[in-house]
Amino acid sequence: MTNDTTLADQLRRTVTGPVLTASDEGFAAEVAGFKTNVVHRPEVVVGISSAADAAAAVAVAVETGTPIRVLATGHGLGTPVTEGIVITTSRLKGITIDPATKTAHIEAGCRWGEVVAAAAEHGLAPIAGASGSVGCIGLVLGGGFGPMARTFGVASDWVRGFELVTGAGDVVTANATSHPELFWAMRGGKGGFGVVTSVDIELVELTTLYGGSVFFDAPDIDTAFRTWLEWIPGLPEAATTSAMILRLPPLPFIPEPLRGKTVLSIRFAYVGDSVAGEELFAPIRAAGALLIDAVAEMPASAIASIHNDPTDPTPSFDRGVLLDELDGDFAGAFLAAVGPEQQLPLIGVEIRQLGGATARDVPEGSAVGGRGGAHSLFFIGAPDPSLFETVLPAVADQLLGALQKWISAENTVNLADGFVIPGSYEACWSPETLARLDAVRSTYDPDRRFPYGPVR
Ligand SMILES: Cc1cc2nc3c(=O)[nH]c(=O)nc-3n(C[C@H](O)[C@H](O)[C@H](O)COP(=O)(O)OP(=O)(O)OC[C@H]3O[C@@H](n4cnc5c(N)ncnc54)[C@H](O)[C@@H]3O)c2cc1C
Repeated sequence: MTNDTTLADQLRRTVTGPVLTASDEGFAAEVAGFKTNVVHRPEVVVGISSAADAAAAVAVAVETGTPIRVLATGHGLGTPVTEGIVITTSRLKGITIDPATKTAHIEAGCRWGEVVAAAAEHGLAPIAGASGSVGCIGLVLGGGFGPMARTFGVASDWVRGFELVTGAGDVVTANATSHPELFWAMRGGKGGFGVVTSVDIELVELTTLYGGSVFFDAPDIDTAFRTWLEWIPGLPEAATTSAMILRLPPLPFIPEPLRGKTVLSIRFAYVGDSVAGEELFAPIRAAGALLIDAVAEMPASAIASIHNDPTDPTPSFDRGVLLDELDGDFAGAFLAAVGPEQQLPLIGVEIRQLGGATARDVPEGSAVGGRGGAHSLFFIGAPDPSLFETVLPAVADQLLGALQKWISAENTVNLADGFVIPGSYEACWSPETLARLDAVRSTYDPDRRFPYGPVR
């Protein structure tokens, strides 16, 4: 089908949700996501309002040979879609918590913060990522490292099944007994299988933890960061931590003690009693004067406050890799590259400690890449799109070059969404896993209706 009006008309005949082309009112809002610099302009956007709508949209894509992609919150998709059909999932908002089985049934348009709130009413919690505004499906399809990752593992380890419409147009349940190979692939293999309409996850019993973040001013960053690096190897699996150097603008929404400053934030989540948590965290508190100390016993429902990620849409430039074990040279190299003396257009450079439960695959196996990574490194550029074409890529190359010695051969896909760097797709899985994922895609999306992979 070449005429977009005809494609839209065909979709409108079977889909109950909105079907919009670029000339329709509401199109721009329908394809807008978290990354405001990424402006999608597909031939048609379909706002599915049910699983039946998803099946109807895929049927039209199959019949007309049209590529089809899924947009949930736009936290991932880093490159604009300029062809075919985009399915948006924001109208699928159902969440059902079953306290008896400690499970949640989550429809495709839900964000983690909504699941956290619903589960908390029953004393339960999902194992998710750091931000409450990231979409549930996008995160678990890529694995998903969160603030309690060392204790509970990767978010996709807690998935019990997916409902999806495959690229072949079939409505399928993928779980341990139904289409197990597809289930293996969808826990970490990310894209190119179909459109997920819902996911079932297991929850953990958790009402409180000891956690939060502390902030050090620029003069204390060197000592505090070195203390953190020496401290983390001794932490038990019940503790997960990360450190982030932040260059904060002098804007009113930034808390006064941090406004306009370069600071080091150390985050902590200890799943256990507060006395033990406080004792474990003591060396960090003693590493310098604290601008803010927000580590305390906290409700599990406030988990997103540990990282305090931005929730409002913004221009975004980010890069992420995994790191191997860090030796005695790392602190010097890292601080020389991104310490407070440097003038850099980066608002955040974060290192998370991984290991513990993230290193162990589920017994039946999953496609999650990067389980061998000891840490993740993630950095975010200043939200100024005029820097995105040349300045920030050069800064990114320089930083990654300075830390090359510690960068793991394998990445994990949620850090590399969009695959804007040549080779970054291939780096997210081992060659064996990539080949197995390819075979699964050939079975469930033989004509590659759901394009997935490097930007060409
Ligand atoms: C502020 C921020 C914080 C983050 N924190 C973490 C974190 O702590 N841990 C972590 O692991 N990752 C994190 N991420 C990365 C995030 O998990 C990925 O970018 C993820 O892909 C976002 O999914 P989404 O649905 O929100 O975004 P989208 O851009 O809407 O979707 C991304 C991709 O997910 C797939 N997808 C989404 N929904 C469906 C569906 N229904 N059916 C089929 N495919 C679908 C598609 O391939 C789509 O291109 C973070 C990202 C940001 C911007």
